[in-house]
Amino acid sequence: MAADKKMETIVSFAKRRGFVYPSSEIYGGFNGVYDYGPYGVQLANNIKAAWWKAMVQEHENIVGLDSSIFTHPKVWEASGHVGGFSDPLTECRECNTRLRVDHLLEDVDVFADEKMSEDEINALLTENMSKLRCPKCGKSNFAPARRFNLLVQSNLGNFTSDWTKDPTYLRGEKRQGI
Ligand SMILES: [Zn+2]
Repeated sequence: MAADKKMETIVSFAKRRGFVYPSSEIYGGFNGVYDYGPYGVQLANNIKAAWWKAMVQEHENIVGLDSSIFTHPKVWEASGHVGGFSDPLTECRECNTRLRVDHLLEDVDVFADEKMSEDEINALLTENMSKLRCPKCGKSNFAPARRFNLLVQSNLGNFTSDWTKDPTYLRGEKRQGI
């Protein structure tokens, strides 16, 4: 079975049996966000319990910690997430699909790294533009790359108009509070 067919089969099985659903499905779904159904919750709980036993209970020198999902913004500045946790994205000017420039370049065997600066990655994008194809529409017309920070911003109850100047963040990549 082809890999994409396999994935399709697993997804439709998981949905049919109530493992996982697209979140807010009756309102058309919410891209990239999912809800666990009855079997999904049970499976996730089993996996968490097995992980907890193996990682925490079976080690004398490890203790548990459950951090809040919000952390002081200075923590994420110190960890480098505010400055560096970002992907270089371009937009296809023909079909408006957003794509990772480093992945497009790697597909044509040009080394690119998500840690490169915007200037470095744009130089590679311009140099190789004619070789790159949009996977959705097949055209070769890309806007300059911009870095998009991947942290999820929140105002944490601060409703003054300028909260975006000093936002709080959810834990990047579900990072631990420690
Ligand atoms: Zn396109």
